[in-house]
Amino acid sequence: MAKGTIGVTTNNIFPVIKKFLYSDHEIFLRELVSNAVDATQKLKTLSSVGDFKGEMGDCTVEVSLNKEAGTLTISDKGIGMTAEEIEKYINQIAFSGATEFLDKYKNDANAIIGHFGLGFYSAFMVSKQVEIITKSYQEGAPAQHWTCDGSPEFTLEECEKAERGTDIILHIDDENKEFLEESRIETLLNKYCKFLPVEIAFGYKKEWKDGKEVETSEKNIINNTTPAWTRRPADLTDEDYMKFYHELYPYAEDPLFHIHLNVDYPFNLTGILYFPRLKENIHIERNKIQLYCNQVFVTDSVDGIVPEYLTLLHGVLDSPDIPLNVSRSYLQADSNVKKISNHITKKVADRLFEIFKNDRAQFEEKWDALKIFIVFGMLTDEKFYEKAKDFALLKNIDGKYFTFEEYKELIKGEQTDKDGNLICLYAHNIEEQHSYIEAARAKGYDVLLLDGQLDSHWIGQFEQKNEKTKFVRVDSDVVSKLIAKSDTPEVELDNTQKNALTTLFHAAIPKMEKTEFIVSVEALGEESLPILVTQNEFMRRMKEMSKNGGNPMMSFYGEMPDSYSLVLNSSHRLIKEVLDAEEKECASAIAPIAEEIKNLDHRKLELKKSHKDKKEDEIPSAEKEELETIDKQLSDLGDKRNGIYSDFATKNPKVKQLIDLALLANNILKGKDLAEFVKRSVNLL
Ligand code: ADP
Repeated sequence: MAKGTIGVTTNNIFPVIKKFLYSDHEIFLRELVSNAVDATQKLKTLSSVGDFKGEMGDCTVEVSLNKEAGTLTISDKGIGMTAEEIEKYINQIAFSGATEFLDKYKNDANAIIGHFGLGFYSAFMVSKQVEIITKSYQEGAPAQHWTCDGSPEFTLEECEKAERGTDIILHIDDENKEFLEESRIETLLNKYCKFLPVEIAFGYKKEWKDGKEVETSEKNIINNTTPAWTRRPADLTDEDYMKFYHELYPYAEDPLFHIHLNVDYPFNLTGILYFPRLKENIHIERNKIQLYCNQVFVTDSVDGIVPEYLTLLHGVLDSPDIPLNVSRSYLQADSNVKKISNHITKKVADRLFEIFKNDRAQFEEKWDALKIFIVFGMLTDEKFYEKAKDFALLKNIDGKYFTFEEYKELIKGEQTDKDGNLICLYAHNIEEQHSYIEAARAKGYDVLLLDGQLDSHWIGQFEQKNEKTKFVRVDSDVVSKLIAKSDTPEVELDNTQKNALTTLFHAAIPKMEKTEFIVSVEALGEESLPILVTQNEFMRRMKEMSKNGGNPMMSFYGEMPDSYSLVLNSSHRLIKEVLDAEEKECASAIAPIAEEIKNLDHRKLELKKSHKDKKEDEIPSAEKEELETIDKQLSDLGDKRNGIYSDFATKNPKVKQLIDLALLANNILKGKDLAEFVKRSVNLL
């Protein structure tokens, strides 16, 4: 029997590495099973080139537990090791590698935890003793038994072993008893080894017999050795892709599309990405892509490897070229990673374009589900935008889909304003904005439905990229002004009448917190509603974007009150009636005030005229004082007059009723005001 000291520089690296790797102890299983798979594949290679002439036989890697003995064993029928090889690969390389690694990452616990490929050495993270019983494929080589208890001392002696291959026996230590639990090992095998290229058995299949669960003689194979991404796309059907998706995500809904990636130059990358059906909140849907390295599971966090919007995709990526033993920030700067990321972006865009081109019906059918993903990509990745702009679709309220170019063609006749701007009208809620949509359509306009969570950002992007194109929500102004044409009808009222109307209606608007109203008069035609409530496009969009989070400027807009316009339709019978009633009722009270205002205005104009060519100090102070007095009087008279209008408004149930109806139509009338409206309506009936 040989005894020796392993070539390590630090005597007690075991406690150190155990501590560092605490949270990641479980990876030892991945490492040891990968080694077993490697050894098996090496032998297969030797056999295929004729360097190994024996029978391959059943090469299943077996993982087994012995609770009484407290051991976990990983057995393979691979190439095995001779005494010299143990000396070289285990005593020297494996250990020196670990020492070197520790030296390098001593001060960076994260790097250690993120490290892939601690290899054989990781067995000591969970074991108080490790044994290797191995027999090389080489003829005549005696079987070897190596033991080590975690100190740098080991023993090595010849032993009996009938079959070729290696058994790694871990004597699990007291702190890691969980790894003697069947369910724990099963979970880990499922996580890390599910797609390894050599069959892995964990115990035997079980079945129910006479009310009891008993083992059958059939090995329980836990992996799929040829997962879809390792096969040629030509050999796979849509069903195969679907089946594989459910292998990855057993509980997920069917995905929309898949993309099979296959690159071998200038880097190596295979994988299948799926477009999932995304639910409401895109932030919790992310990071489902699994990253593999030669079919060994590494992580399901691909942050930094693919652009942010691609983290919404599902599926697998497999690349030996992604450096896994480095920290995330390093990863983001890695040129291979950048190339991979660009490649994936291009592939995703190309695939979408291909479906769009070859099967537009299918593309349209899935658009609503795809949209959030594509919009997210367009907003965050310039390269993706450039490609996606040709297949991104706009949907109108009839459910028809158009590319942006197609849509431009469709609306340019009717929806170009007098300054040559193309105006795209949109609604975000068909129900709520029904009357506005109808008004726009009655004018021959088309209305888009933009109800997605990123749409305000998206249309902002469209406007930025396309000169003379504007998106305007149907309720942001009265229909005649949504698209400014030169033939907008004039209001046939004089200033006094306009002022009377706006003042009296303003006085009757219910007071609401953080809400402002501006009242104006427009001639909207007899058929339109008497009052419309509109909300300025710019302010509303800014507020919406601030809700979605963003820069500090946006949160400034978020603090602003909601501001609406109340537009009185001067062509409508009811508004005319209100004006008539006001003129009749208030005439005697208003007339003397109006007369006074007229005289004061006249005098003011006279004074101003005489001051026109004079310097400030040439104006007599008496005249200056007189002007001040006039202004004061005018303001008082104005208040007095407005008071009369207000009195009229509060006593006139029609005014309140008209306002409330308009507010109600826009979902703004709430609480006490709503209750009052109902009561008033009943009384009117
Ligand atoms: P790596 O696998 O990255 O080379 P390891 O520390 O896991 O590093 O293993 C060191 C070496 O030990 C391997 O390269 C291999 O030559 C040998 N080895 C480990 N496990 C086995 C095994 N089950 N069968 C044969 N050789 C093995």
